[in-house]
Amino acid sequence: MLLSVHATVGAIIGENVNTPLLAFVLAFISHFVLDIIPHGDDVLIKAYRNDFKNKGVLYLIIFDIFSTALLLLLLFYFHKISLTQTVYWGIFGGILPDLMVASYEITNKFFKRTHKIHSWTHDRIHWTIPLKLGILVQLIIIYLMLR
Ligand SMILES: [Zn+2]
Repeated sequence: MLLSVHATVGAIIGENVNTPLLAFVLAFISHFVLDIIPHGDDVLIKAYRNDFKNKGVLYLIIFDIFSTALLLLLLFYFHKISLTQTVYWGIFGGILPDLMVASYEITNKFFKRTHKIHSWTHDRIHWTIPLKLGILVQLIIIYLMLR
């Protein structure tokens, strides 16, 4: 799922709990729960596995990082989320699983178990939806979170 979804959900969790630790833990868990929802990235994962240097996947990752940063800036700017420790830790907890998965993909060493659990969550619902529909689903989740 896009980092922007995980970051937004993490921020909203941080906005609604009292301690950074709780924000971090709940956001971390939320990542795996959200990834159960079919979101169309099977195509990307396959493309990535077939060709490690697949440009399409690389561009999407770069786009994802920049759009997440932009979205968070806008959310702070329009006071949808506040600049507090709990929000920071919520955002960090929300995106950390993907950072751990990426580090395993790159090194083949660290966070093997997290990688396994992450893949497991993606396989819970066997619906393959097109990427465009998946992105729409994710935009709707972000929209619903921010209402
Ligand atoms: Zn993920």
